[in-house]
Amino acid sequence: AQLDTLDLIVLVALLVGSVAYFTKGTYWAVPKDPYASSAAANGAAKSGKTRDVVEKMEETGKNCVIFYGSQTGTAEDYASRLAKEGSQRFGLKTMVADIEDYDYENLDKFPEDKIAFFVLATYGEGEPTDNAVEFYQFFTGEDVAFESGAGADDSPLSSLKYVAFGLGNNTYEHYNAMVRQVDTALSKLGAQRIGSAGEGDDGAGTMEEDFLAWKEPMWTALSDAMGLQEREAVYEPVFNVNEDESASPEDDSVYLGEPTAAHRQGQPKGPYSAHNPYVAPIVESYELFTVKDRNCLHMEINIGGSNLSYQTGDHIAIWPTNAGAEVDRFLQVFGLEDKRDSVINIKGIDVTAKVPIPSPTTYDAAIRYYMEVCAPVSRQFVSSLAAFAPDEQSKAEIVRLGNDKDYFHEKITNHCYNIAQALQSITSKTFTAVPFSLLIEGLNKLQPRYYSISSSSLVQKDKISITAVVESVRLPGASHMVKGVTTNYLLALKQKQNGDPSPDPHGLTYSITGPRNKYDGIHVPVHVRHSNFKLPSDPSKPIIMVGPGTGVAPFRGFIQERAALAAKGEKVGTTLLFFGCRKSDEDFLYKEEFKTFQEQMGDSLKIITAFSREGSEKVYVQHRLKENASLVSDLLKQKANFYVCGDAANMAREVNLVLGHIIAEQRGMPAERGEEMVKHMRSSGSYQEDVW
Ligand code: FAD
Repeated sequence: AQLDTLDLIVLVALLVGSVAYFTKGTYWAVPKDPYASSAAANGAAKSGKTRDVVEKMEETGKNCVIFYGSQTGTAEDYASRLAKEGSQRFGLKTMVADIEDYDYENLDKFPEDKIAFFVLATYGEGEPTDNAVEFYQFFTGEDVAFESGAGADDSPLSSLKYVAFGLGNNTYEHYNAMVRQVDTALSKLGAQRIGSAGEGDDGAGTMEEDFLAWKEPMWTALSDAMGLQEREAVYEPVFNVNEDESASPEDDSVYLGEPTAAHRQGQPKGPYSAHNPYVAPIVESYELFTVKDRNCLHMEINIGGSNLSYQTGDHIAIWPTNAGAEVDRFLQVFGLEDKRDSVINIKGIDVTAKVPIPSPTTYDAAIRYYMEVCAPVSRQFVSSLAAFAPDEQSKAEIVRLGNDKDYFHEKITNHCYNIAQALQSITSKTFTAVPFSLLIEGLNKLQPRYYSISSSSLVQKDKISITAVVESVRLPGASHMVKGVTTNYLLALKQKQNGDPSPDPHGLTYSITGPRNKYDGIHVPVHVRHSNFKLPSDPSKPIIMVGPGTGVAPFRGFIQERAALAAKGEKVGTTLLFFGCRKSDEDFLYKEEFKTFQEQMGDSLKIITAFSREGSEKVYVQHRLKENASLVSDLLKQKANFYVCGDAANMAREVNLVLGHIIAEQRGMPAERGEEMVKHMRSSGSYQEDVW
């Protein structure tokens, strides 16, 4: 058949597309590094981007690679800390590696005298982090085959020595599944683990201490295996931080908080992603409730024209800005106040060091936009500041804090201090001697926070709603309120949008208009993360949703969607929501809106509420679930999907248990069968969780 011009264009486009797809990462760079242009200035890019880790280690003279699979930055931070310790205490030549930056097919050629660390977080339901998906699939897949042709039966990894640490949360069913499965797979392939496979538990709040307790025996085992000699650790900076007096913060080349070079140059282009956020206008914002010091925000974020899209049930990430009050505190504590607007260049000293902050920048911008300065403090990091304490007395106190876990808990953790507050609690003197490199090394990159989208893409495809409770908590024993970074920033944006010329929630103050005023007119950088938390494609299928508090967020989207379908005359199945809050007239989110949806959906929408502070006894969603056992069971028999959203620590777990009981009881089965049925529902996708 004859091909006309259009066919030809389509064919060529397809061909180019396929070539590009299959050569991804080989012939063209996958745009991943948000600071690619600044990285080019340091050695990382200069040394060439090989995906062969053996070659890379050879080239750079390394004998220890620390791979990380990280979602929120903690695993990455632990990897950096291990690299530093390995180098300073044991003279290892270490490099840190994002696990997605390298291939795995040649790990069978990993030299015997070198060591690989795997620091792997488990995400959600036992899943790998986004950057570790391919690695995970490679090692846990059916037929593992290496470049040399060796397969699983030949013990292909017999020359690979490795160390493993996992970051998990015991409130999830598949606790630390990632490290466990990878450890099993590597051992099966003949690799030799050194020390025990460590497991940190975020659920019990012991992650940091688990890590510290695991690493000492690991270092001993590794020293034995590799014949390492421990030496007195002397701090060696990872980054060169130079103040450039000839540069001005007004120079176009200076990052003043922009996420990428394109944002700095003023023309950020798509595609927008986790490495390239879209600076989106907030078109509407209001409070869903305000009581004493609790409040909850509803915001509408416009993604029209950005080419970003979402589906009902997805997540949106908000890129926050630190509060001015905390930026000032940090600058003051480290004696940087007078230099806040000085331009600094940050370069990795070693070619493998990745600079987490784009540069040149200023101290102010680095702290405000790029560093997680408000987070809880690690004992190891505090300990590393001892050498730079302003006097002997504070040095002695820091050493004691570093060595005594219980004392550290009493004095720092229990007070919920961030790093600057912690140091202020030790002395009023400033820590001017602390190298800025050490602060970059010891603190995480400022992380975007995720929110379950609370709108339906069918109803408002260009507008994403979020429902966020403002974090303002006094933890037991703490001497001050912990103010959440992102939610208080959003609160300030909301105040500004609603007419407050200088919003100042709780005296925090924010740079509302962003770097170079680029966020003026109420904008915020965002990206969308697709999730598996999805409505059934057939709307006539019944659904059961359990979402107390802000856990109702995605269900507002689900109901909005089903109400719209019902209004169009489509058949919509029973839509059952269990919602819980404190009081019906206090924090009942979307109460009025639900009435409108009810009118559109009639009997197919059922909302069952649990108010924990109204009666003499506390009633929660799981109690209501139990009371409605036969309704729930009937809907499950009609193949209802079951969804849970919100608090992972308690609620989601209880709901899981109660559902098992309901199924067992209603169908006259033993309790274990009920549990098994829930497990089966999970694996088949009819039980879905969106919990945090
Ligand atoms: P952060 O600054 O991150 O602080 C969070 C908490 O950490 C504080 O409340 C405190 O308990 C602790 N903390 C912080 N600093 C310290 C310190 N120095 N010492 C001790 N403790 C400290 N939230 C919603 O409101 N709505 C949603 O729809 C929603 N959906 C989510 C979906 C997903 C997939 C995930 C992962 C999370 C979701 N969250 C949601 C939670 C949200 O991402 C944020 O974690 C939350 O809003 C708090 O962010 P923040 O920056 O304000 O607080």
